Amino acid sequence: MARAAVPGRLTWQPATVAAARAETATARTLVLDVDGWAGHVPGQHIDLRLTAPDGYRAYRSYSISSAPEPGRLEVTVQAVTDGEVSPYLVDVAEPGDQLEIRGPLGGWFVRRPADPRPALLIGGGSGVAPLMSMLRAATHPTRLLYSTRSPSEALFTADLATARAADDGRIDVTYVYTRVAPPGWPAPPGRLDADALARVAWPRDADAVTFVCGPTGFVEAVADLLVDIGHDPANIRTERFGPTGG
Ligand SMILES: Cc1cc2nc3c(=O)[nH]c(=O)nc-3n(C[C@H](O)[C@H](O)[C@H](O)COP(=O)(O)OP(=O)(O)OC[C@H]3O[C@@H](n4cnc5c(N)ncnc54)[C@H](O)[C@@H]3O)c2cc1C
Repeated sequence: MARAAVPGRLTWQPATVAAARAETATARTLVLDVDGWAGHVPGQHIDLRLTAPDGYRAYRSYSISSAPEPGRLEVTVQAVTDGEVSPYLVDVAEPGDQLEIRGPLGGWFVRRPADPRPALLIGGGSGVAPLMSMLRAATHPTRLLYSTRSPSEALFTADLATARAADDGRIDVTYVYTRVAPPGWPAPPGRLDADALARVAWPRDADAVTFVCGPTGFVEAVADLLVDIGHDPANIRTERFGPTGG
């Protein structure tokens, strides 16, 4: 008897845009409904594929920014100027549109909600997206260090404010502004440095795990700084948001 094909993580499947939320002037969260989606592990991503009316196809990777949920997931896309896929997702796609996705993908840059180790999440720009999924699902102490150019470019501002307001000591959020800081901010804008990292890092004996995500240069600089201030590279997990797809 022929075996029925079982759709797997690498099979493209239809996804419907259920809603779209502006995060900033150039970034948007898309809520996608996917039949049979079993959920994901925070940190995982999907590949998302668009097909033009003439049949031309392009796909790109996007981290899942929502907490795990059956049948539904969210991605948060920062438009890259002159990009092929991201401006479409940010400016054009609308509720009811059909896309295709495959996933969830990735097994290393993940934080299982039941993992009892404290975590430090360090995000640069849209690299905060998978960290937001980790933070939303967190059941154990979690610190987020979020490097953004300016308050107007910061993603998830309202969600992070809510998480802080509901703070029961489990979640801590620190911003670093690299170009423009809010009025009255205690530090001038500047890149994340060893002092700022040392202030938020868990003590070395805390058995903490650190996740770093963002543009390649950001991830490499932060990983080097972490090692410089004494962190064990074995407890640092990184994800680089370089160009993807085809
Ligand atoms: C594992 C993974 C997860 C990702 N998750 C997210 C996410 O959650 N949100 C998100 O917004 N993006 C994410 N990205 C980046 C995303 O896959 C695309 O690369 C990005 O949206 C640009 O695609 P594009 O088609 O608009 O640009 P393209 O047409 O591919 O590129 C246009 C120009 O921009 C440059 N470029 C492409 N990508 C980038 C980039 N990421 N940074 C700087 N320059 C770039 C290209 O070299 C080219 O010059 C992720 C990437 C990876 C590898």
